Amino acid sequence: MSAENQTVLDQFREAGALLEGHFLLTSGLHSPKYLQCAQVMQDPALAGRLCGQLARAFAGDRVECVIGPAIGGILVAYELARALGVRALFAERRDGAMTLRRGFAIRPGERVLLCEDVVTTGGSLNEVREVVAAAGGQVVAVAALVDRTSGRESGLGMPLTALVTVDVPTYPPESCPMCRAGRPLVSPGRTGKK
Ligand SMILES: [Zn+2]
Repeated sequence: MSAENQTVLDQFREAGALLEGHFLLTSGLHSPKYLQCAQVMQDPALAGRLCGQLARAFAGDRVECVIGPAIGGILVAYELARALGVRALFAERRDGAMTLRRGFAIRPGERVLLCEDVVTTGGSLNEVREVVAAAGGQVVAVAALVDRTSGRESGLGMPLTALVTVDVPTYPPESCPMCRAGRPLVSPGRTGKK
């Protein structure tokens, strides 16, 4: 692990954002570790610092707006947008489908930075990408605070730039050793149907 990665992870740990147990991820996979980014993002100074650091990777991308999926992506989009001097949108589920609401709009050809707090399978981000594409926007980069893809293909068709990479095992429920051991399953970040 790089020194920079370790420093960021230490800040997550200090903020109480790194939990250990048996967790159900939004992706449906189970994991012995969970990153509760809300614990980091509840501190505006820390959120601003970390997102400011992440935003530097996109300084040359001429980003015109930042968008993430509700709820996890809202604050990350907001802080990235603040650092980049552009506007922040979020997409949210309505009847299960990711949509733009609240009068949010993307102009045809607009240069969009997609973002999320934690990316495990890329499922939600891919849905937001489709929302951007349907509006005629152009996704120029993808950002996350935490990359948990562990080498899985995200399906985004472009690299994911993350502040920290966490290589923690994830299991489908049917082959989860913690399920087999009868450990109670916790759903810390469940925000909607997937
Ligand atoms: Zn399990």
